[in-house]
Amino acid sequence: MPNDNVRELPVTGPPPGSGLATCRFCGQTKVVDLDVFPDPTAADEHVSRECGCHGAYEYRQELEREQSLERAKKQIEDLFGKGAPGYGLLSAIDEVKEVLFEAARLVYDFKIKDLTVSISPCVKAKVSRSAKGKIVLNRSDVAAFKQEV
Ligand SMILES: [Zn+2]
Repeated sequence: MPNDNVRELPVTGPPPGSGLATCRFCGQTKVVDLDVFPDPTAADEHVSRECGCHGAYEYRQELEREQSLERAKKQIEDLFGKGAPGYGLLSAIDEVKEVLFEAARLVYDFKIKDLTVSISPCVKAKVSRSAKGKIVLNRSDVAAFKQEV
């Protein structure tokens, strides 16, 4: 039975269904929805990514870099490795793919603007960066046949 003489205590903690998570870079705590983040480690990770502090900003940059280079690696494998025969093209050897990946890393980090590799007289690879900051891989295969008989 409800007792009208008992007043509700003021809410001091996070609202029901919510919890606190901490940014590991600056120590700020933020309220998170426990339905979305039932795991405290995942909640801290989320807050550490979304926080406005400098450490979180650098962390986001590093994550973006890792994801971009991971995508570049897959694209190199697709265009120059296992995926090439699917386009009717020849695969490059592993050492060439490693050079292309290294080029992608250097381009992403602004160490070089672009790099063109002549894999064979007919196959060229170019690694560059788009205006939006994406790594661009370009493969050109030139088939030129000339026979004097
Ligand atoms: Zn922070």
